[in-house]
Amino acid sequence: MFVFVTGVCVLVAYIVSIKFVYCRYRQLWPHMWDKISNPLHTGANKQFSPTQERSDVHLLNSEEKVRTRSTGIRALLVTAHPDDECMFFAPTVLKLVESKVDVHLLCLSTGNYNNQGPQRRKELLGSCTVLGIPSHNVTITDNKELPDDPTVQWSTALISSLILKHIKNYTISLVLTFDGRGVSGHANHTVIYKALSHLASSGRLPLGCQVFSLHTISILRKYLSVFELPVSWLLPSDLCCIIGWEEYKRAKKAMLCHHSQLVWFRRLYILFSRYMVMNTFQAVAVETKNVKMY
Ligand SMILES: [Zn+2]
Repeated sequence: MFVFVTGVCVLVAYIVSIKFVYCRYRQLWPHMWDKISNPLHTGANKQFSPTQERSDVHLLNSEEKVRTRSTGIRALLVTAHPDDECMFFAPTVLKLVESKVDVHLLCLSTGNYNNQGPQRRKELLGSCTVLGIPSHNVTITDNKELPDDPTVQWSTALISSLILKHIKNYTISLVLTFDGRGVSGHANHTVIYKALSHLASSGRLPLGCQVFSLHTISILRKYLSVFELPVSWLLPSDLCCIIGWEEYKRAKKAMLCHHSQLVWFRRLYILFSRYMVMNTFQAVAVETKNVKMY
């Protein structure tokens, strides 16, 4: 009986802590976004820890806040396959769209692994519409050198060049992608991180352009859904995007647009994946030493 009562108390306390963390993350979003949207306040060396109060935010006067919020931010999400955008990044896209950010998507393949490229292209456009990315902001690369195949090593140089061209063409100031472990370890995911880190470290990105990589979490944490939130709260990150029930329903709707991929375990993923409710990112250090000023 004692063990049972203790177990119930621990469970209740854990559920309360989830609610607390969720509310704190939601409260912190405007402060976090102020910092992200103003490159003068950002940098890889200024790591954000959600459990620490960000005192410098309160130093911004109202004029500065208006200026930072009215800045037209263009964000670029770089993915490898149709469905990456909602499967791994839905909370981020929804939060950015909600914050009036002009979100662009660069998907580096048509997802033609099972010769379903044309269908998957349509599914991707449907998913983006649900998430709030207009179709004219979606670019799907169809390059024979970039097949949807984990056994084929994509050229880092080619990807770097495609991403850089996109950043310059659309005046992108915020780039988001996978980290070095690519969430699922897929080679097509990890190579994007390599290409972006190369661009960032070689000083080839435009001045003020920031890069964030999505944290890959362990498989246990990955399938705990909202029960994982207290763990993320205790770990440092530079950007956290968390969504509520209504936004989750949109993320789910976007996932359901990918009819060709709706196998049974994908449905379980929608129910249990923590990436469906929350994303945490790390800033990638950006060198600007070689950038020319005109
Ligand atoms: Zn993928």
